[in-house]
Amino acid sequence: MPKRSNFTPEQASELYSCTGWGREFFSVNENGEVVVHLNDNGKKTKLSLFEVAKGMKERGFDYPLLLRFRDLLDAQIRDLNEAFISAIKDHDYKANYRGVYPIKVNQQQQVIEEVTEFGRQYHYGLEAGSKPELLLAMAYMHDPEAYIICNGYKDSEFIDLALQGSKMGLQIVIVVEMPSEIDLVIERSKALGILPILGMRVKLSSCNNSHWQHSSGENSVFGLTPEQVIGSIDRLRSVDMLHCFKLMHFHQGSQVADIREIRDAASEAMRIYVQLVNEGAPMGIIDIGGGLGVDYDGTRSTRPNSRNYGLPEYAADVVDVFKTVCEETNTTHPTIISESGRAIAAYYSVLIFNVLDVNHAVIQEGTRPSVTSMHPTLRKLMEVDDNLRADNVQECYNDANYYRKDLKAQFFYGRVTLRQHAEGNRLFKFVIKRIIDMVGAMENPPEELSEIGANLHDVYYANFSLFQSLPDSWAIDQLFPVMPIHRLTEKPTRTAVIADITCDCDGRIDTFVVDGEITKALPLHPLKDGEDYLLGVFLVGAYQETLGDLHNLLGDTHVASISVEEGKVRYLHELEGDTVADVLSYVEYEPAQVVRRFRKLAEKSVESGLISAAERKNIMSMYEESIRGYTYFES
Ligand code: PLP
Repeated sequence: MPKRSNFTPEQASELYSCTGWGREFFSVNENGEVVVHLNDNGKKTKLSLFEVAKGMKERGFDYPLLLRFRDLLDAQIRDLNEAFISAIKDHDYKANYRGVYPIKVNQQQQVIEEVTEFGRQYHYGLEAGSKPELLLAMAYMHDPEAYIICNGYKDSEFIDLALQGSKMGLQIVIVVEMPSEIDLVIERSKALGILPILGMRVKLSSCNNSHWQHSSGENSVFGLTPEQVIGSIDRLRSVDMLHCFKLMHFHQGSQVADIREIRDAASEAMRIYVQLVNEGAPMGIIDIGGGLGVDYDGTRSTRPNSRNYGLPEYAADVVDVFKTVCEETNTTHPTIISESGRAIAAYYSVLIFNVLDVNHAVIQEGTRPSVTSMHPTLRKLMEVDDNLRADNVQECYNDANYYRKDLKAQFFYGRVTLRQHAEGNRLFKFVIKRIIDMVGAMENPPEELSEIGANLHDVYYANFSLFQSLPDSWAIDQLFPVMPIHRLTEKPTRTAVIADITCDCDGRIDTFVVDGEITKALPLHPLKDGEDYLLGVFLVGAYQETLGDLHNLLGDTHVASISVEEGKVRYLHELEGDTVADVLSYVEYEPAQVVRRFRKLAEKSVESGLISAAERKNIMSMYEESIRGYTYFES
């Protein structure tokens, strides 16, 4: 019988808030492993991420790994579309929903292929924000009932491509973001003899509180002001092209946490839309952009990394607001487009990495560290330890800090050796650990000490690069759920921040969600000799893969798409991560030339007798093998 601890999978789920952010996709099984819930021929099957990761390693793919689950992408596409279909039915709304997936959120070929294939049943389209994205959209989106929405600044080549695509039967909408684009579209349309499907992006005055609030409100960078919209309408009318103006678009910014802000923006937008109809434009389509949030911290609140609504409420509110304004103004109900990206892609990928080492904030269990050379301050620290009792714990805490500071000062003036300094540090950490344990057992600890453990955290060094795999964690303090993917029937006894293997002090994760609260450290287990300790970072499918960079020349991780068939894991689309040669070539080196340069040094070393010719051979093959190898720490 396996030994059961008093820590249950349910407690683990609560501790890491997996019950909130994991939704119906992730949970903890009775073996204490995180499982992903996948569709197996209509039946839900739970796969252990720990087993999947081990399986990858056995197949020669070392950690870190990115696991992708196309089933979760499908589930989100389905839920979003079904939410709008239900809301439209419930509100007796007289037009359709036609969502589009913004390519920039995750442009990987597997994503675009899945979005277009699975999404076809809903005529789910694509949003392109640049020429390359439009070229991609035209290659993958051939459903004449789905939309391709062209946002972003456009040159004449971009516009020509869109016009030619419409001629070929695709519903490509050119959304004007700048007043000057109107003249360019008119000119290209006349030159090619093709009428565009035209849209305009409008600026709303409604603001929101998200990190991307600068994308909303009157001061936002993108979109046309009311004067510019009216000017563009007059210009179109003057060349007899007002009949091409069919779509109004707005974008509130990403990750809008509060549903009231979504309602407010929808309401203001529909008022503008009605005015466009009154101006004589045919219209027929309203595009509400992105903004649909993801509940990264699982609290379903208005915190920046959460959202206080679900998909059904989002769809129902948008449809309700649009219908109310349309009925009031006697306006035909327009087709609704949304450009939700984050909510579609976030669940798709999970980053898995192993922990390489730990730096403990306090000495772990055991006896008092020995001291090899006695120094008066070290002796004082030992006396503090000897005298420590529950009734003088505050005094001992003060003394321990005083003597540690004293030791540091004496080291500074050359009166303490490095060895004595190190032994003093170890003694101090031991005393603090005893104080933490003592305070933890007290009903009424001294006020200053009641939080003493909370600010002392280990550093767990983990095999990944924050800059490559979680760039938003560094750039915009985005919170991602992190937790061990196994050992979850064992109570975690340490608290830690996680440092990556870049030699950059920003390369660390130090914001977590624990028990529904935002914390500076994560409860973790002590490492066991000879055993991998694997952590997962969840909900990383949106924006992370292509925003990542090559800091310290750490490249793309290995990737596998995981699905399940007849209860068995299927490893699909395994992609080897970047080799050292790959990342060198990204930064304009020629790997062969790098090897040649090193070979010169090796030969020089042989000539000067530092190494033998046989040693040169071994060193060269080691060097060349490393150039062909993975950029991360390999076990
Ligand atoms: N549409 C536009 C114009 C955007 O700029 C963005 C991204 O910010 C999106 C859609 C996707 O937004 P989200 O990921 O919040 O759904």
